[in-house]
Amino acid sequence: MGTAPDASQKRKNDRSSMPDTLTYNGFVDQPFQTTVREVAQLEGIGLHSGRFVRVSICPAPANSGIKFRRIDVDGQLQTVIAHASYAEQARLCTRIVNSEGITLETIEHLMAAFAGVGLDNATIEIDASEAPILDGSSQPVLEALNNVGIELLPARRKYMIVTKPVEAQLDCGAWARLEPAEQLQIDVKIEFDDRAIGHQSFSYTHHDGSFATELAAARTFCQLRDVELMQNAGRALGGSLNNAVVVDDGEILNEGGLRIEREFARHKALDCLGDLFLVGMPIKAKMTALRPGHALSTKLVHALLNDPTAYKVIEAGSEHSRSDSFAMPEYAAAAMA
Ligand SMILES: [Zn+2]
Repeated sequence: MGTAPDASQKRKNDRSSMPDTLTYNGFVDQPFQTTVREVAQLEGIGLHSGRFVRVSICPAPANSGIKFRRIDVDGQLQTVIAHASYAEQARLCTRIVNSEGITLETIEHLMAAFAGVGLDNATIEIDASEAPILDGSSQPVLEALNNVGIELLPARRKYMIVTKPVEAQLDCGAWARLEPAEQLQIDVKIEFDDRAIGHQSFSYTHHDGSFATELAAARTFCQLRDVELMQNAGRALGGSLNNAVVVDDGEILNEGGLRIEREFARHKALDCLGDLFLVGMPIKAKMTALRPGHALSTKLVHALLNDPTAYKVIEAGSEHSRSDSFAMPEYAAAAMA
């Protein structure tokens, strides 16, 4: 795409031509690829390591997808691609690993925010083997992205369309399915013994603005006894009431309680959204999950990608796409020229 640098340079020099109203609420339901306008910074401790971590979300060209760079390791080994083919089944987080064995953990709340706002391309520099847990939700990522803004790139989006049902289950009874749908929908049901969590369902439909209002603020959660077990095993060393909702024997230990009703189920939907983005592009499907977790969603995504008859990839605006009727906005038309 030889025109891309010129086009993006032109937009950089002429911000006034970009409509101010195009905040993070406007990039899901449109057919062009996106990246961040400038570098977005985040920092905080890693949940499992307890170490301080810095993250820079940097602009990247069209068709490059989401790539992480471990800047704390040798230059040859740094790149870890956020794609299912590099994802391992891990119970407590989403972990990706490159061919050199360099791993990166707990990327799910970043990935959820990227999928949530419609960010297709970015290079994320990180100086540790784990993303910061922040406040346990995707809200700080959403705010960082909104502070720098998102811009359209002169290339059409590709979508993964699920064409037949695919299922995955775990021995513990957790179960999930993907099936064809016009737009991304995630239905989750959780069942916890502790009555502070209990049984909850949440149904999320992905469109412009829905992530910010329905999922972004929902925090991760755990039971106090699990925190003690994990910390005895050298995990969750950075875990605290500042980055998770902690329940114990029917009570929420966090001062102020929940941020939003059904926060637990919403957070599981957020995790599913992030894990589904590991297919490498926005997906159109309905996901149904009983007792979802990262091991289950990673297995589901692998089951989908391992069956080429279960999906197709289409370009927005192509003859198979419903985006045909979308009128190209003036600023995007200029970028395509
Ligand atoms: Zn989570």
